[in-house]
Amino acid sequence: MRRFALAIGIIGAIAFAAGAQTRPDEARVFAVPGPTIAAAPSTPPASKEQPSKENGATRESTGVASDPKPQEPPVAAKTIFGAAATPASLAARSIGFYSRGCLAGAVAIPTDGETWQVMRLSRNRNWGHPKLVAMVKRLAGEVAAKDGWQGLLVGDISQPRGGPMLTGHASHQIGLDADIWLTPMPNRRLTPAEREALSATSMLGKDGIHADPQVFTPYHAALIRRAASYDEVERVLVHPGIKKAMCEEKGVDRTHFHKIRPYWGHHYHMHIRIACPPDSVGCRPQPPAGPEDGCGKEVDDWIALLQRPPKVAQPGAKPSPPPKPVTLADLPPECRLVVEADGDDGRDHKPGKPQDARGATSR
Ligand SMILES: [Zn+2]
Repeated sequence: MRRFALAIGIIGAIAFAAGAQTRPDEARVFAVPGPTIAAAPSTPPASKEQPSKENGATRESTGVASDPKPQEPPVAAKTIFGAAATPASLAARSIGFYSRGCLAGAVAIPTDGETWQVMRLSRNRNWGHPKLVAMVKRLAGEVAAKDGWQGLLVGDISQPRGGPMLTGHASHQIGLDADIWLTPMPNRRLTPAEREALSATSMLGKDGIHADPQVFTPYHAALIRRAASYDEVERVLVHPGIKKAMCEEKGVDRTHFHKIRPYWGHHYHMHIRIACPPDSVGCRPQPPAGPEDGCGKEVDDWIALLQRPPKVAQPGAKPSPPPKPVTLADLPPECRLVVEADGDDGRDHKPGKPQDARGATSR
């Protein structure tokens, strides 16, 4: 049996952490409370994400208390999930919440398709719930066919078993989030080295707040609108300057603008989130985006927030202690099964399916 080898995994995780690039903007997605303006993104309050009796924390701590020997601190969940090189060979299921959960039965989007190329292959984060992977493929095909794009550069999706990551991203844990670069795919195959080194293009101008119309064009806006138009897509996160530029564009269909949410960062890429698949028992949905298009006061409040001078720490003020690492016990109990399950090669074994779900397991 090919049990998940923790020891080897940890070594791999350390090597992986050393090679990965952290994107601080991503780390804040859903990790911090939204701004205090009324139009804050509908992020669940942080308290809902805390360990609770239901998720096994109590059972875990009882075990610790009854053992007279001093205990090693528990391994951080990001170390365990960051070391998993293959998906759990279980039925596909997104478990928990976008920023506190894991993923069973993940499939990989192939690193190359006719209309997409996956970036940063060393990260091994091109895994998602089959529904999410299907959505990315559909988007890549449709923007190429209808919106003048050559194709998409695909950023991080999830790790093979989802879960917290060693670097970047508070969410992306249950295989329902995908980052798509706003840099168009070039008209050639990038080499693996280029996929590591190529920088994405910021859509912002010199002020770092508003979109640069020379860079962010109607062509980019069409991509974002198309992603938001899909039924399964609940949110597309973009920088407030991008949302503002989209609101100012004349003569475009705003039917799905309510799903295009301004958020910190997200000027190099957009973040697409799909709804909990109906058969993913234990997937916790987030409230749907309201019906408003978010243009006007909402986006203006965001711009004003970005224009506010940053807070300066008071001299002598104590820095806040680092947050306690999330452990396996803090995740839904089923995530333990995901960790312990046999590995898979990431192929979709359903009959009649092409083998294009094969992942980058050789990396
Ligand atoms: Zn993202």
